[in-house]
Amino acid sequence: MRIYRQLWIVLAVVAMSACQTARKASQPIEFTILQYNDVYEIAPLEGGKSGGLARVATVKKELLRENPNTIAVLAGDFLSPSVLANLKMANGERISGLQMVETLNAAGLDYATFGNHEFDLKDPGVLQNRINQSKFKYITCNAMRRAGDQIKPFQQQIDGQLRDVPKYVVHEFSNAAGAKVRVGLTGVVLPFNKQDYVSYAPVTASIKEVLGVLQSQADVNVAITHLAIDEDKQLAADVPGFALFIGGHDHTHMKYQVGGTAITKADANVKTVYIHRFTYYPKTKKTVLNSTLKTIDDKIADDPATKAVADKWQRDAFKIMEEQGYQPQRQIMVAKTKLECTEEKVRSRQTNMGALTLQGFETVNPGADVYLLNSGSMRLDDDILGTLTEYDILRTFPFGGAISTMQLPGEALGRVLQAGLVTNVGEGGYMQVRHVEQRDGKWWIKGEMLKNEKTYTVVLPDFVATGKEANLGFLKDFAASQKPNFTVNAATVRNDIRDIAIYYMEQLGTY
Ligand SMILES: [Zn+2]
Repeated sequence: MRIYRQLWIVLAVVAMSACQTARKASQPIEFTILQYNDVYEIAPLEGGKSGGLARVATVKKELLRENPNTIAVLAGDFLSPSVLANLKMANGERISGLQMVETLNAAGLDYATFGNHEFDLKDPGVLQNRINQSKFKYITCNAMRRAGDQIKPFQQQIDGQLRDVPKYVVHEFSNAAGAKVRVGLTGVVLPFNKQDYVSYAPVTASIKEVLGVLQSQADVNVAITHLAIDEDKQLAADVPGFALFIGGHDHTHMKYQVGGTAITKADANVKTVYIHRFTYYPKTKKTVLNSTLKTIDDKIADDPATKAVADKWQRDAFKIMEEQGYQPQRQIMVAKTKLECTEEKVRSRQTNMGALTLQGFETVNPGADVYLLNSGSMRLDDDILGTLTEYDILRTFPFGGAISTMQLPGEALGRVLQAGLVTNVGEGGYMQVRHVEQRDGKWWIKGEMLKNEKTYTVVLPDFVATGKEANLGFLKDFAASQKPNFTVNAATVRNDIRDIAIYYMEQLGTY
């Protein structure tokens, strides 16, 4: 009898603790995702006021103190474009995004998906090196590596072992009571950059397939989407089941709700970040999401370790620029109007940044009938507002290059305009133009209809004049002349797009 009573007590204690465990296990689990997207700059912009990955590192640390269940996620576009990317290191290799990888490693990034700009790197071997040098993990469900006829996953070296970049990961968080939530993370990128070594599976079908798998493996699903916002909205409508799309590609902050899916994008170059605080209720399997946009500015202290890495790269890069005769930190203009330089804009329509540069061409080299600038020479893929430094011009035109003067028959100029303003829309060969209009299907130059038999003076980048731009190869058959320098108001301006833009914008002072 006594034994039975003892047993009963033991059973009761076991049952009580099991009950407590069950109650604890049903307590909500909180976790936080720090989001940033489209980052090309390791250091702050606008004269040090805005952005900076060392400040983002501080934010990550603060969030970790608030809740150890915190991860940082980057929604693509970081290995390029950057003026630093084109500079050569002491070993002769181009930097090609290493400055970003090392700074992001220091800043505590956990996961990233590919953006289209990761595939700007022409050499897949260099991309492979950058992936291997990353301490954060890559995820993509639709970008694959193509080698000959074979299409395989990209790979990443982790702990000395080469592993396939996964289509998804399940990241587990637990609360103090030991209750767990499984967060499914996948990534997707738009098929924008067509390098031979990349193959893109369709976005919707790929993400649908992954969600099908995640439904049994995860409690909360999050997709890191490097897509244009309209595609994000369509995808959220077509494939319901994600709590959040951590978006990229668009460079200004936005937030939408499509059914049960929140879609968020922060500003490019970590001018802002998104902080997503999730609460998961195991009992009801419900998720509550609270997303806030945080401005990254000089009120946030730098994380010293991250700042040391960023400073080292920035110092090296500025030294190379100074050797080329530039003063990267010198202020040249204040932009009161946003200077439009995103790839989407400069490759599809005339923008004020294109217009200002072409006015610069005309200021140093007046008297021509037409001025042209291929949009592919503008690689900033961002807008600029506020303080404009020489560095901003250098990062806008990372390739630089001289401008040339050509005498073109009207017939040839007509072909240039047809290719540059019609055929090449959406490509780097789309032209920013000065003194050109299209009316009733005809080209007009300085207010007069283009005449096939007339000869026109055209000023354009040497890159285009020598036939290197898409659909404009025929220009190499026409003579082009080039001066090493221009003299304007007793000033000598080196014949380079960057020097011309710097000179002209400094004369303007404000815009
Ligand atoms: Zn992009």
